[in-house]
Amino acid sequence: MKFIADCMLGKLARWLRLLGLDVKYYHHTDDGEILDLLSRQKDLILLTRDRELFKRAAKLHSPVSRSLLIQSELWEEQIKEVLFAFQLREHLNPFSRCLECNTRLIFISKKEAESSIPPRIAALHHTFLNCPSCGRIFWSGSHYNRMRDKLAELIKYLP
Ligand SMILES: [Zn+2]
Repeated sequence: MKFIADCMLGKLARWLRLLGLDVKYYHHTDDGEILDLLSRQKDLILLTRDRELFKRAAKLHSPVSRSLLIQSELWEEQIKEVLFAFQLREHLNPFSRCLECNTRLIFISKKEAESSIPPRIAALHHTFLNCPSCGRIFWSGSHYNRMRDKLAELIKYLP
């Protein structure tokens, strides 16, 4: 399943990526560009808070549009809306995708990570994830634990 989020939904896009979902998101993009992408990629699902854009996208993919008009202003509620609407429990693979650029992460060894991370991090951790596209390196520090707990809480009530 492939999603594109409108530019008002940056936080939602990052958290969905964190759950392993494929979400396109650009800081600067107008409705025309989004509609253009949707017309070329029929399997792309639009997530938007913009009623007008939602209607135009629905028309474009009619009669089988799966675009979702997000109701809540709160990102935690927005995540639940998406997970419920598309029954995504089986599709989740947390911490498998770069939250900055949507690329699939790969495991790298401490040796490979060493030159790019602070020594105190290298001393504490053994496994690292690398984004082959933007080069970011992730590890399971306290930030990771907080996100993991948050994700567990968010998906707890999924059917
Ligand atoms: Zn990346």
